[in-house]
Amino acid sequence: MNIVELEQVQKRYQGVDALAGLDLQLKQGEVLGLFGHNGAGKTTTIKLILGLIQASRGQVRVFGEDPCQSAARQKRRQLGFLQENVSFYEQLTGLEVLRYFARLKGVKVSECPRLLQQVGLDSAAGRRVKTYSKGMRQRLGLAQALLGEPKLLLLDEPTVGLDPIATQDFYHRIAQLKEQGCTVVLCSHVLPGVEKYIDRALILGKGHLLAEGSIPELRAQAELPVTLNLQGEGLSLPEPLQARATAQGSGVQLQVHQRDKMAVMQQLMGLEGLTDLELHLPSLEDLYTHFIAGQAKGSDALEATL
Ligand code: ATP
Repeated sequence: MNIVELEQVQKRYQGVDALAGLDLQLKQGEVLGLFGHNGAGKTTTIKLILGLIQASRGQVRVFGEDPCQSAARQKRRQLGFLQENVSFYEQLTGLEVLRYFARLKGVKVSECPRLLQQVGLDSAAGRRVKTYSKGMRQRLGLAQALLGEPKLLLLDEPTVGLDPIATQDFYHRIAQLKEQGCTVVLCSHVLPGVEKYIDRALILGKGHLLAEGSIPELRAQAELPVTLNLQGEGLSLPEPLQARATAQGSGVQLQVHQRDKMAVMQQLMGLEGLTDLELHLPSLEDLYTHFIAGQAKGSDALEATL
């Protein structure tokens, strides 16, 4: 059974098409990165999965049930959710906040100190939230989302405000949860560093699915060139490669098609004067820009023909 299933889901707010026919299937233990510009429909997708809003058309199934039906409410305990711009009761301590959410969720309060320790808040557990920094509030939000060992975790901008080490710790925790069979949907505008922790990326633009797949699949779909940076004085490239080369400092930059990568590298290995070679595959950021720009070009072209 799929943990999450969206079938031709549309969501229309007064006059705004927030989602226009989205299909999505998520299996147990999958980590999905949900990306898109401001207003693309990411939060709407998360709210539909949580059962906080109803689809205008199409079907949403979470753990095999419509999340808006009262029968599915019991299953909400298996969900963890971190919303964007999380805020808490300022006068309570971190531990009191977490205990409050544990009681709401029907989870043992004895779990709270361990969770606070996991997110690095153990020494601040007894301090009021009003004294917390932005990153500490975010960590408390993560602890709240992890209450009750959720089977499905929905995280909207989870790394905002986290320092680099806390961001890495967060992604390691996601990898552990995945190992334990937890399914994760994570929305983020901070793309660098995410790609090695997600199984699939889904890119939304103006409520439409622009691209979906693993990073290698998206690279194949986008057909963006691979960049090779060659270092060495007076490099003389074989004739067919010269047209694809530009001077770069003391070296040369080459852009080649993904399918030619190995053949070109073999050619370069024997090149006289070559002291170093760096290979850059298109990053998640490059792929995101490619698909979003493609939609913008498509709508410009459509407008021009109307
Ligand atoms: P961001 O990255 O800025 O958080 P998002 O991808 O999460 O954006 P959504 O919040 O899903 O975007 O919004 C999608 C569209 O739906 C936007 O055009 C937004 O203005 C609209 N929208 C969202 N909620 C409502 C609402 N309650 N009433 C009217 N329009 C709404």
